[in-house]
Amino acid sequence: MQTVSMIVPCFNEQESVPIYFNAMAKIFQKPEMQNYALELWFIDDGSSDATLSELKKLNKQYPDVAHFVSFSRNFGKESAIYAGLQAATGEIVGLMDVDLQDPPELLPQMLQELSTGDYDTIGTRRIGREGEPAFRSFLSNLFYKFINKISKVEIIPNARDYRVMTRKVVNTVLSMPEVNRFSKGIFSWVGFKTKYLDFENRERVAGTTSWSLWQLFEYSLEAIIDFSAAPLAIASFVGIFACVVSVLAIIFIIFRTIFFGDPTTGWPSLAAMILFIGGIQLFCLGILGNYIGRIYSESKHRPIYVINEKK
Ligand code: UDP
Ligand code: MG
Repeated sequence: MQTVSMIVPCFNEQESVPIYFNAMAKIFQKPEMQNYALELWFIDDGSSDATLSELKKLNKQYPDVAHFVSFSRNFGKESAIYAGLQAATGEIVGLMDVDLQDPPELLPQMLQELSTGDYDTIGTRRIGREGEPAFRSFLSNLFYKFINKISKVEIIPNARDYRVMTRKVVNTVLSMPEVNRFSKGIFSWVGFKTKYLDFENRERVAGTTSWSLWQLFEYSLEAIIDFSAAPLAIASFVGIFACVVSVLAIIFIIFRTIFFGDPTTGWPSLAAMILFIGGIQLFCLGILGNYIGRIYSESKHRPIYVINEKK
């Protein structure tokens, strides 16, 4: 008998929680799943609806299966994942969303692949992005292209957080206590053999997604800054480029003055140049600032989450 700990972050998911639990219970009743004992770790990420009371209800009814950790406020999904990894006791640990966008029907196959011993992680990728605005898919494709160009760690396009892994992988991830967490990168960074299974994209079962376009942008920035120093190199390159161009311009101006005299023109171009250089400087400062900001937040060593209640 092997314990499978599934970590399930929940943020305002009162409708999804019971539906998810029933779906999982059904899967673990299947004959091929009889060698696995399910341990669920719901992480209530500071929900303001009845999510916590739903979790308490489940915990009362199934104290051996349905556990929960409740945060003191919303810390974000990445913090929830870390809390879950710390709480999980199983030899096998998995992550999945509560909205059933990560299909539980896939879990038996994932566990079966893991049990062959050929892999340490079985991840998932969704194919098709129906039901999503075209602009969002476009941005997301652009993001994956960009990050994989500049990051040494491979970020698998369209990979979900939905995965199962061995204790070995979990312990390695737990040994990375960084505050700025981008899980997709962290799971790649730790290495080990990983296999990806594909599944069709599907709509969430209830509730609404809590990600705005702006949050996705910030998430991408997190990914880029946490896993690549390329923007810093780009900043110095842009600086050098501006230098070279201005030296060429100076040479040009000197020669023009010598051969053609010095008619005082060029006010607008001068103003434009000052603005251009100023813009480049602010842009590079901004890049630096983003890295320094991360250093600042890491150096404070604040906890990644604060627990209000745990059962
Ligand atoms: N989630 C969370 N904290 C947050 C935002 C989301 O724990 O601050 C959870 C949410 O309850 C869900 C999962 O993370 O189980 C994925 O969120 P969502 O479905 O909103 O994202 P999407 O599937 O649209 O990427
Ligand atoms: Mg979802």
